[in-house]
Amino acid sequence: MTEHVRVVVIGGGVVGCSCLYHLARLGWTDALLLEQDELTSGSTWHAAGNVPTFSTGWGTMRLQHYSTQLYARLAEEVDYPIGYHVTGSVRLSHTEARLDEYRWALGMARANGIAYELLDPAELQRRYPFVELDGLNGALWDPLDGDIDPAQLTQALAKGARDRGAVVRRFTRVTGLRQAAGGEWQVSTDKGEIVAEVVVNAAGYRAGEVMRLLGQDLPTVAMSHQYLVTEDAPELAGREMRLPLLRDPDVSYYLRQERGGFILGPYEWQATPMWLDGIPDDFAHKLWNDDLERLESYIEAACARVPPLGRVGVRRVVNGPIPYAPDGLPYIGPAHGLRGFFHCNTFSFGIAQAGGAGKALAEYVVEGAPEWDLWSCDPRRYTGYATKSFTVAKATELYQNEYAPAFPHEERPAARPLRTSPLYDRLTARGGHFGTRGGWERPLWFGTAHPDAPALSFRRRRDWFEPMCEEARAVRRDVGLLDLPGFTKFEIAGPGAAAYLDRLVCSRLPRPGRVGLAYALDARGRVVSEFTLTRLAEDRFYACSAAAAEWHDADLLRAALPADGSVRLEEVSARLGTLVLAGPRARDVLAAVTEADLSNAAFPWLAAREIAVGAARLLALRINYVGELGWELHAPVEYLPAIEAMLREAGAAHGLRDFGLYAVDSLRLDKAYPGWKTELEIGFTPLEASLDRFVDRAKPGFVGRDAILADAARGPSQRLVPLVLDEAGDADAPACASVFAAGARVGIVTSGGWSVTLGRSIALAYLRADCARPGMAVQLVVLGERRGAAVGQAPLFDPDNLRPRA
Ligand SMILES: Cc1cc2nc3c(=O)[nH]c(=O)nc-3n(C[C@H](O)[C@H](O)[C@H](O)COP(=O)(O)OP(=O)(O)OC[C@H]3O[C@@H](n4cnc5c(N)ncnc54)[C@H](O)[C@@H]3O)c2cc1C
Repeated sequence: MTEHVRVVVIGGGVVGCSCLYHLARLGWTDALLLEQDELTSGSTWHAAGNVPTFSTGWGTMRLQHYSTQLYARLAEEVDYPIGYHVTGSVRLSHTEARLDEYRWALGMARANGIAYELLDPAELQRRYPFVELDGLNGALWDPLDGDIDPAQLTQALAKGARDRGAVVRRFTRVTGLRQAAGGEWQVSTDKGEIVAEVVVNAAGYRAGEVMRLLGQDLPTVAMSHQYLVTEDAPELAGREMRLPLLRDPDVSYYLRQERGGFILGPYEWQATPMWLDGIPDDFAHKLWNDDLERLESYIEAACARVPPLGRVGVRRVVNGPIPYAPDGLPYIGPAHGLRGFFHCNTFSFGIAQAGGAGKALAEYVVEGAPEWDLWSCDPRRYTGYATKSFTVAKATELYQNEYAPAFPHEERPAARPLRTSPLYDRLTARGGHFGTRGGWERPLWFGTAHPDAPALSFRRRRDWFEPMCEEARAVRRDVGLLDLPGFTKFEIAGPGAAAYLDRLVCSRLPRPGRVGLAYALDARGRVVSEFTLTRLAEDRFYACSAAAAEWHDADLLRAALPADGSVRLEEVSARLGTLVLAGPRARDVLAAVTEADLSNAAFPWLAAREIAVGAARLLALRINYVGELGWELHAPVEYLPAIEAMLREAGAAHGLRDFGLYAVDSLRLDKAYPGWKTELEIGFTPLEASLDRFVDRAKPGFVGRDAILADAARGPSQRLVPLVLDEAGDADAPACASVFAAGARVGIVTSGGWSVTLGRSIALAYLRADCARPGMAVQLVVLGERRGAAVGQAPLFDPDNLRPRA
């Protein structure tokens, strides 16, 4: 007999049980968790159990902070012990760059309500008496760090779910998955068939296996990770307080007290991906043999740093699988292209993240979206290019760098170049330095690295900074050319196309031959996507969005398609490339290679025209992201080399210069143009993002309208504004820096940078509405230093927008 349930969760590790617990809390108690073995038999049972809040990502820090709050109350709530010790932790620093990272993380933590502290060496030693100080210049204190018993935590979450009516079924393996025409999921197990509305893949390092039941791949690989547990150390006997956790990221290990001894776990350079040809069926509650040779130098360094460690023997070694995504972050949220199927897997720090991840997953399932923006963990951030070899290469590189500082401008080399424009070799020969977005290589800046350039840094680096300034100046003074491969691009056509889009976005649709920005919201009125929408004809549109948004936006657009077939949606991302020609002399350059009339009368700002450049027919949009006269040229990729050669030749007389994304960032900040997933994320409505002119409140029905009308009636509680810092300093405001006024925290920075145009350090920040007034004096904390700033009038440059219309 077939069993029917509302939701099936596959996997009874800490994450699956947290999903079940949070689904039940949100009222989805008709929920069934299937575990092929005992609970915790995957990675969970042997985890070291560290529960940090530290992260250099806003989303993951919030997730982990929530976990600590949940774990603090869980044992009492469900009446089950979880062995949770909040000990605090010290993260050691050996370098100035490391201290900068801590200053940045401290700002983010404080904005999250977590009281991180920077410790000088003397204070470090007071909090961690056994530490040797040589070579150290300080440490970071996380007061909420601690450790937990992973198995007990899992059981407690399972109990909490069961107490609310959810069911946990052990020794039941999912062997098949199929979606019926009506949308319900047919879940086959070795014990029988189940039908469910929703499936959650929480299968840990077997999440890829589960996807293969559906004929799909998931970019995930298991890495071998080891820690060793020591005999009791006499120095720890009789101490009243447990030692704080200690991490030495510059060497790359963690060390914590475990009963009367220590646990020591390095992230070693010799990263070891496992099971490249499949996971043995019978691997459950198992470990691999230890391989201490890989860890020797780390063990030596830790013993020198904390001498009591060097005086005890090793009791046992744990070597087990940790699943890794290419960027080391988990997959939480909807699976691309599948209705009612969600991921919550591939956790490298699943004990610390399970609480927050379960909450977010349950919100996705029950409410359609999580409370916080979790794009950094969205399964759709990787698309088809993330093959097995890509995943192994990136995950290996990530594991090697697990504790490396998260430098803002670092572009790591593994598995690159991958997706390239036909101009890639040409731009490389001209000194292009590239970064990847959505797997695409995009130019960041051009030039030769400065011979005295410092290593990677949180401060402005001379190697890219000076060339970036030259490029930005050239765009404002003459003209620049930028190759931007990888935009996500769709053609949307048919008799129902206009009505469909009109409902999907809150903005007014452009007239035929015109271009406009359009914002898609969720039901709560929060921004989910941004499209540059071109109306090619009454019933035909061309929509462009961020390179990384390919699967995200495809899902959004597909889910809203009417069932009557009146709208055709085609993704054309790979077929078309984009060149940006921008600057006061852009018209002169373009006019030299086309017969099209480029005058303001014939081709005004925000117009779209098909033009010919040599033998190439292309779509020219009079729009750009840098606030200048200019065109985006969207052309079939096979024509790009010819078009670019013609533009360069014509541009020689006009000072044409290549520019890259670092210059774009400086120029767009001048204009207070927001970026997707920096300023525009689901934490904010378009009114909060100061996008009022893109919200057509008079439109009768669009997604999020009720929420927007309510937001407008109340008046948005915060607004996105530009800030101008008083002093140049040697660093710009990092994302998530707090903004203060009259001693109170009143906002948060989303982007900071150097305005080449204004010669000032500037930023974009969400400020409490009463502080978002031009001229208001505020203070920012930039890498630990309090800096004065003033709220500017947006945009800071060319306020009447005369230059794009020139
Ligand atoms: C040595 C080591 C130390 C670690 N230390 C820490 C730490 O200190 N802090 C931290 O945060 N993280 C740590 N981790 C990582 C942590 O263990 C994992 O991130 C976490 O356990 C993942 O939990 P999970 O529930 O996602 O996966 P798992 O625990 O692997 O659970 C997945 C479950 O799914 C079941 N399953 C799989 N396929 C099927 C199927 N087809 N049908 C039914 N059931 C299925 C499996 O049997 C398994 O029980 C460590 C990992 C290792 C290896």
